[in-house]
Amino acid sequence: MQETIDIRVTPKVAGEPMLLKADLSNRLGVDANAIKHITIIRRSIDARQRQVMVNLSLKVYINELPDNTSLVRPVDYRPVDGSRQAIVVGAGPAGLFAALRLIELGIKPILLERGKDVDSRRKDMAAIAREGVVDPDSNYCFGEGGAGAYSDGKLYTRSKKRGSVDKILHIFAQHGASEDILVDAHPHIGTDKLPDVIKAMRETIIRCGGEVHFATKVTDLIIENGEVKGVTVADGSTFLGPVILATGHSARDVYRMLHSRGVGMEPKGLAIGVRLEHPQQLIDRLRYHSKEGRGKYLPAAEYTMLTRVDNRAVYSFCMCPGG
Ligand SMILES: Cc1cc2nc3c(=O)[nH]c(=O)nc-3n(C[C@H](O)[C@H](O)[C@H](O)COP(=O)(O)OP(=O)(O)OC[C@H]3O[C@@H](n4cnc5c(N)ncnc54)[C@H](O)[C@@H]3O)c2cc1C
Repeated sequence: MQETIDIRVTPKVAGEPMLLKADLSNRLGVDANAIKHITIIRRSIDARQRQVMVNLSLKVYINELPDNTSLVRPVDYRPVDGSRQAIVVGAGPAGLFAALRLIELGIKPILLERGKDVDSRRKDMAAIAREGVVDPDSNYCFGEGGAGAYSDGKLYTRSKKRGSVDKILHIFAQHGASEDILVDAHPHIGTDKLPDVIKAMRETIIRCGGEVHFATKVTDLIIENGEVKGVTVADGSTFLGPVILATGHSARDVYRMLHSRGVGMEPKGLAIGVRLEHPQQLIDRLRYHSKEGRGKYLPAAEYTMLTRVDNRAVYSFCMCPGG
């Protein structure tokens, strides 16, 4: 038998499987030994009151085990060798997901990236910090994984207008991100894991017959009779097919090229940010109302801020655990 239940418990009960089982045994009126498996479907922390609570949505398996304990709904990526091809320029989040989506649609992606693979790129970023040397094609903005590849990989948005992002979270989990991202109200992948997730996505693309070319900077579009037929890259070679430009906001040379080729573009409103740093212990103490900080069972606390100044919105964009 399976029971789906929403409960509100202390962080300790939420974090200790035996205590959680005992709590559920009471609530459901069943012997604790009869509870064979508990799947967490949703988890959020409510720190509004002095006693911090954890809200859990659970599926409880009584006297039976689930057929499959994984929460991931994987996409079935099939081979696309020999199919028609499309070119994706840029292996940031937009380009990687475009390539995966092309495979889902039975189209072979040719992914062209000006920078290096996510591991080699790490060395170039270290050189920036150590020697002040910047490789113009392999740096914080350019290279496999794109602009945020070495950031925290936070996956939540305040925007309601983009529809469900569930499928995206499942694709990340399918490629090695923790299943916690499918459960937590504020999911994040973590800087330590993001490069491996990116590599796994690249492997899916190649395994299905797609191509990934690093150190391949697109310098021009091939346009015939007003129609894009392909791209030219820095060494003069060409790739033919429909083109998806996923070059991110830092590729100014691309926008100059588009402008010179008469491609219509329009400016987009932008927000300007500053970085604020507080010690994580301070944020934990304030948010969790405790001198001891977050303790054993709570994650690094976070906050958001939203106000208006001179009729403009001022808001916190994101927070890194660690302060
Ligand atoms: C420090 C930092 C932390 C961030 N943290 C988060 C976070 O936690 N969560 C979150 O959701 N967002 C975060 N972001 C924002 C996020 O990284 C961006 O929104 C996202 O990277 C945009 O994706 P994109 O694919 O459109 O562009 P980009 O990531 O900019 O990728 C574009 C890619 O195109 C390549 N390229 C450019 N020109 C060419 C060319 N001519 N030929 C071939 N390739 C080319 C580039 O090398 C790059 O790899 C962060 C950004 C930064 C800088």
